[in-house]
Amino acid sequence: MSAVLVVNSGSSSFKYQLIDSESEESLASGLVERIGEASGRTSHRGPDGTSERTLQIPDHTAGFRAMLDAFAEHGPSLDENPLDAVGHRVVHGGKRFFEPTVVTPLVEINIEDLSDLAPLHNPANLQGIRAARAAFPDVPHVAVFDTAFHQTLPPAAYTYAIDAGLAERHRVRRYGFHGTSHKYVSEAAARFLGRPIEELRQIVLHLGNGASACAVRGGRSVETSMGMTPLEGLVMGTRSGDLDPAVLLHLARRAHLGTDELDELLNRRSGLLGLSGRGDMRDVRQAAENGDEAARLALDTTIHRLKHYIGAYTALLGGLDVLVFTAGIGENDARLREETLEGLGFLGIELDPERNAASDRGARVISTDGSAVTVLVVPTNEELEIARQSLQAVARERAD
Ligand code: AMP
Repeated sequence: MSAVLVVNSGSSSFKYQLIDSESEESLASGLVERIGEASGRTSHRGPDGTSERTLQIPDHTAGFRAMLDAFAEHGPSLDENPLDAVGHRVVHGGKRFFEPTVVTPLVEINIEDLSDLAPLHNPANLQGIRAARAAFPDVPHVAVFDTAFHQTLPPAAYTYAIDAGLAERHRVRRYGFHGTSHKYVSEAAARFLGRPIEELRQIVLHLGNGASACAVRGGRSVETSMGMTPLEGLVMGTRSGDLDPAVLLHLARRAHLGTDELDELLNRRSGLLGLSGRGDMRDVRQAAENGDEAARLALDTTIHRLKHYIGAYTALLGGLDVLVFTAGIGENDARLREETLEGLGFLGIELDPERNAASDRGARVISTDGSAVTVLVVPTNEELEIARQSLQAVARERAD
C-alpha cells in the first residue's frame, strides 16, 4: 500500500495527513506546533488513537524529525506505506503556477519570488517544503496552489480598474484563493448529483474562518470573491472583506495608521471579531441568541454580504443550477444557511427547512424537490484534493 503525505505549513506550525493512494482513506494526521518557541508540541492521530508530546522544536527540519518519530512510535509504518509523493499546500502561485507542480530548486525560487504577494503565507509554505524535502529526499514533492483553480478567470473578472502599467509592474490583479476547496467541492457536487459538470452553473460558498464565494461554469472558476490577497470579499472571522479603498486613505490621514497597522486592522482585527469582539462563528451566534446587538449586527452584515454575492454571481453565470455550502460554518451552521437564502425564492432557490436542519454529515441536498436551484451541503476535503493532484502531477511528469 502506498500513500501521499499532505503538508500544510505555517510559520510556526504545520499540519500533515497521510492518505492511502488507492483507497483515498486517511491513515494518519497530525499537527506540529510552536516551532521556534521555548516548548513545542506534536499531536499525532494514528491507528491507536491520538498521542501528544512536548519537546523543543527549533525549526521546521526538527519538526519533520518529530513527525517521523511519531510515525515510527505510533504508526502507521512509513516503510509499509511508502510515499508516492509529498503534496504541499502553497497559498500564492501568481500567474506562473496554473497547475500542481513538481518541486525543483527553480520552483522554490519562483515560490519565494511570489512572497511579496503573500508575505504571511508563501515564506512559511516554503519553509515546510524545504524541510520536507530534506526529510524525504527521494520522494517527489508537489506544490498545489490555492490560486491555481482561478487561472480560468476572464480578464474582465481579474482586472482592477487602476493604472494598467502600474498594475502590471506590481502584479496587481485578482488571483482568488481557496481554489483547492472550490475545485474539490464543485466536482464532488456534480458527482453527487450524477450530472455532468460541463452543464452546471454553480456557486460555491466556502465559509470557514476565511470565506470566499466562487462562480463555477462547466467546472471552471469564472469569478471569485477573494482578490490579489485573501482579504477581499465576504465578511470573515477576523478579515473585513470588501470595503471602500478610500477608508484606508481616511484612516491613514485622520487616525494616523501606518501600513502595518492597517494590515493588522483589516486582516486580524476586523470581520466578526471587529464587529462583535468574537471571531468564532459559534460564539457570535451564541451571543446573538443571548440578545447581544453587536453580535446580531455581525451576523446580519455577514448574511447581507452573502446575498449580495449570490445575486451578483447568478447574474454573471446567466442563471444558477447548484448552490453549495462548505467549510466549518457552511457545513455546520444551518441557521446561517437559512437566513442567507431567505427571500431568494425569486432566483428559484427554495430551502427545505427540515433537510437543512438535519445534522447529517456527508454531502446532502437541502433544497425542496421543486426548487429550480439545487442547494447542497458538501463537506470540503482540501487534503484529499491535494493528494489527488499530487499523484496526477507525478504521473504527468513520468509520462513526459
Ligand atoms: P474552518 O476554517 O473551515 O475550520 O471553519 C471555522 C469556522 O467554522 C469557525 O468560525 C467556527 O466557529 C465555525 N463552526 C464550526 N462548527 C460550527 C457550528 N456547529 N456552528 C457554527 N459555526 C461553526
